[in-house]
Amino acid sequence: MSLDELYREIILDHYKNPRNKRPLPAADIDLERNNPLCGDEITVRVRLANGVVADAAFEGQGCSISQASASMLTEMAKGKSLDEVEALVLAFRGMMSGKSEAGEEHLGDLVAFKGVVKYPVRIKCAVLAWDTLQEGVTKHRGGA
Ligand code: ZN
Repeated sequence: MSLDELYREIILDHYKNPRNKRPLPAADIDLERNNPLCGDEITVRVRLANGVVADAAFEGQGCSISQASASMLTEMAKGKSLDEVEALVLAFRGMMSGKSEAGEEHLGDLVAFKGVVKYPVRIKCAVLAWDTLQEGVTKHRGGA
């Protein structure tokens, strides 16, 4: 199996068996965004306890890339502080912009989206959930 095929398998697995795709009542971060270019819709919800992500969930619809990315986000955000979440968003955006290889070892399954960098129109699909999370963190901090 080539690396590209392995990456495709990881994305399809998250798309077909999304993690934490469910409502999350009384979330501290609750934000919906869409990607009109592709028709993707994502709602990211995070519940915090002592400044750490205690639970994360998403709902939405759209292409396999957008949904798989949101699924990975909910798994990876859990247990992280908001600073760590923001560092992860930065590292992922860096990889998707094709600029930075730094911090890739922290990206886990997200490296599966590396192949998407070749298709600029799909990059927005991959980062949609993460942009939404970042905006939610910023809003949460502003309102605190
Ligand atoms: Zn999409």
